[in-house]
Amino acid sequence: MQSMTNTDTRDIPATLAQITALAEAGADMVRVSCPDPESAQAVKTLVAESPVPLIADIHFDHRLALTALEGGIHCLRINPGNIGSDERVRSVVSAARERNVPIRIGVNAGSLEKHLLEKYREPCAPAMVESALHHIRILEGLNYPEIKISLKASDVGMTVQAYRLLAKQVDYPLHLGITEAGGLLPGSVKSAIGLGLLLVEGIGDTLRVSLSADPVEEIKVGFEILKALQLRSRGVNIIACPTCARQEFPVIDVVAQLEKRLAHIREPVTLSIIGCVVNGPGEAKETMVGVVGGAGENLIYRLGQTDGKAGDESLVEQVAQRVEEAAARLREK
Ligand code: SF4
Repeated sequence: MQSMTNTDTRDIPATLAQITALAEAGADMVRVSCPDPESAQAVKTLVAESPVPLIADIHFDHRLALTALEGGIHCLRINPGNIGSDERVRSVVSAARERNVPIRIGVNAGSLEKHLLEKYREPCAPAMVESALHHIRILEGLNYPEIKISLKASDVGMTVQAYRLLAKQVDYPLHLGITEAGGLLPGSVKSAIGLGLLLVEGIGDTLRVSLSADPVEEIKVGFEILKALQLRSRGVNIIACPTCARQEFPVIDVVAQLEKRLAHIREPVTLSIIGCVVNGPGEAKETMVGVVGGAGENLIYRLGQTDGKAGDESLVEQVAQRVEEAAARLREK
């Protein structure tokens, strides 16, 4: 699970604060842009202080890649075909090899090579794959197999098609993402569809949800995608009904309060919050903690059994306590 800082990388305190916030939200790796020498030089301090491995994002200038590698970067995102002479490519690969640093080839539909745009007339999945294969062959030619690849487009269908095509041709790890997906809501939907389609097919090894929003939201959305597919769990998985005239307590309000109150939980606790007896008992039996709306008194469940009642005023607190107990039990296991 990855995200990317949007601070000025030269501002080390601000960048470190964002890396730390992302790590606390669950990021396994964080990417930082290195568009100039000062940013590449900042890598050394960032790597030393970061709680998670860092990836340097570099375009065109191989000297920035060398500086980041000297600074101890854990991964490089650079396209070898875009950095000029063979000599330059060899120097980057040789420095990466010395440190066993993987290189991510990042193909983006918005920046395909000119000859591919002429050949295919417009960005498309086969053009993206051809671009990726070109960069892959350069690294293979230097006998450097520490590669991962991304093929990102803002168009969901094009992205999915590109990954499917490439997955048939190479066995390298694939980093998934829908690029420039937009704001929090549309970006989350596009990412969930695109990444979801690929992940259920077994395609994809790492991912980034790209949103025009606080990068911490990218991590939260990414985990929701993985939780929905039962590929990875982190934090409370809330199952809640959409509400209707039968609801016996303000479900939407209670869910919003509990999401905030339980944001610190990292253990995979399941919680159902259901407004009435129509579906409530069934869901409560399948979750670690459950609430079923009842007239004046709502039923609370723990591990599928009824475990007390709560009026609307004490409901959030009573449920939160039981979820925290469930999390503590999981921690002890
Ligand atoms: Fe309505 Fe009950 Fe269904 Fe919730 S569970 S949407 S309150 S019928």
